[in-house]
Amino acid sequence: MSDAETLFERIIAGEIPSDKVYEDATTYAFRDIAPQARVHVLVVPKKRYRNLAELASGDPQLLADVASTARKVAEIEGIAESGYRVVFNTDGDAGQTVFHVHAHVLGGEQLGHFGR
Ligand code: AMP
Repeated sequence: MSDAETLFERIIAGEIPSDKVYEDATTYAFRDIAPQARVHVLVVPKKRYRNLAELASGDPQLLADVASTARKVAEIEGIAESGYRVVFNTDGDAGQTVFHVHAHVLGGEQLGHFGR
């Protein structure tokens, strides 16, 4: 198993420092180390699934928990009313680099269009 595969588990365990925004029994949220917007927070389920599809089929309740935590992060960060974007990158063309599913919560400013 490469470092990339275990990075978020080590962050959740406190072995690697992170700027925590929110935590509950099933999810952990912390600031992205290379923010792509004024607010850029990652929401990670504590139990590891490789990507959104595997999480959705393996534990739908945990996916609902991730969505709920994304909403809580938006409220904590004061962007729930101004609007925000939630992104799950999956594999190569999307540029996924950490294979422990995570939601990017982005906002705090007008976001550009995305895609190509
Ligand atoms: P993805 O490319 O969707 O797999 O997203 C992985 C994200 O993890 C990237 O946006 C990275 O900037 C972020 N990242 C990598 N290492 C850390 C770290 N130690 N703390 C916080 N964010 C990290």
